[in-house]
Amino acid sequence: MTFQNSLQYAREMDANDPLGHFRDQFHIPMQKDGTPFVYLCGNSLGLQPKSTKKSINQELLDWQNYGVEGHLQAKNPWLPYHEFLTNAMAEVVGAKPIEVVVMNTLTVNLHLMMVSFYRPEGKRKKILIEYDAFPSDKYAVESQLKFHGVDPEEGMIELKAREGEELIRIEDIEKVIEEQGDEIALIMLGNTNYYTGQFFDMKRITKLGHAKGCKVGFDCAHGAGNVDLQLHDSGADFAVWCSYKYMNSGPGSLAGCFVHERHAHDKELPRFAGWWGHNKETRFKMRDGFDPIPGVESWQLSNPPILSMAAIKASLEIFQEAGIKNLRKKADILTGYLEFLVDNIGDDRIKIITPRDVKQRGSQLSIQVLSADKSLFDKISEAGVIADWREPDVIRIAPTALYNSYEDVYRFSELLKEQLSATKS
Ligand SMILES: *Cc1c(COP(=O)(O)O)cnc(C)c1O
Repeated sequence: MTFQNSLQYAREMDANDPLGHFRDQFHIPMQKDGTPFVYLCGNSLGLQPKSTKKSINQELLDWQNYGVEGHLQAKNPWLPYHEFLTNAMAEVVGAKPIEVVVMNTLTVNLHLMMVSFYRPEGKRKKILIEYDAFPSDKYAVESQLKFHGVDPEEGMIELKAREGEELIRIEDIEKVIEEQGDEIALIMLGNTNYYTGQFFDMKRITKLGHAKGCKVGFDCAHGAGNVDLQLHDSGADFAVWCSYKYMNSGPGSLAGCFVHERHAHDKELPRFAGWWGHNKETRFKMRDGFDPIPGVESWQLSNPPILSMAAIKASLEIFQEAGIKNLRKKADILTGYLEFLVDNIGDDRIKIITPRDVKQRGSQLSIQVLSADKSLFDKISEAGVIADWREPDVIRIAPTALYNSYEDVYRFSELLKEQLSATKS
């Protein structure tokens, strides 16, 4: 694709974008002067679909009108409400319905998954994780190790990029698994990496992990709604993700959880249980021992917050309409355009640390600005961009396929160029 560095070209791309109309289905935050912000932070908190309010209001109305009877009589009965989300969510992450459920929040799900899939035994007690994993994932892993009496110093293998490099090489992951696989109980990697935007080949890692007898799970917080995850085919034992980043379901909204079909009917698999995971036929009898529902639904603990699920429902309807493959196609072009523009600035202080290979990334470019401080980012923000700054010197930009335009990307790169030339020494 040959891009052009002009506003006119960006606007032409928008005019010819088959997914361009989806932008109108979202609330874009406005500046004081009434012009929209250039919002490039969908990897942190996705924007609100205009349909979300209606979806939540429906549940408020049914609660108002029916009280407890809403469990059965609401337009979308609350008792099976989570089931209304399953098929659409399964499509987004490339899984079978029996493998996917929306429940709890991300870190909670990660713990529940480790309860079941981190079972240290003998000399196999280590967990493999990235050195620069998202802090919550690290805390979760560390605390699971301690919970099982394993010293994190010994029990945690941290994958690091090579000296002078930002990205983890797949061959280095393979080497660790090859050499230490017999001692690894669980491989738990972030996919896509929140900092670098690197997307790992899950199938390859899983295959190798399984060959060595390890369990394999992924945190897909930055992958869901962004890249084509194909969780079922990946073969991973489990995956978790949140719904408020690329999935646009509102701050702190409920999370997704995947457990591979091969575990669906294993009633002996240890797990922490609650009544919502129990056989639906006998759930209200409250007397029998725990009888897990087949599939990942059995990991549900509580009856879920319907208002949060209503927001997820509204968002998933948009994903169904757009299709994850179409979204990925646009996102590759849009992200490629950002890459082209940033490269075109031609300033040797900037370096894109995200992989150049589109198969190894999603809708995020992490742009390192050498010897910059946060004031550069603050100036870009003052000029109307909402993005994310990570110390010491990285700007994370996420052009999302659903609501970002080519003009957004163009405006950001112009502002970055302006600020860089203002600070030229
Ligand atoms: C966003 C994110 C989280 C946040 O966890 P919550 O439990 O939703 O607060 C955890 N891990 C990763 C990798 C994330 O990107």
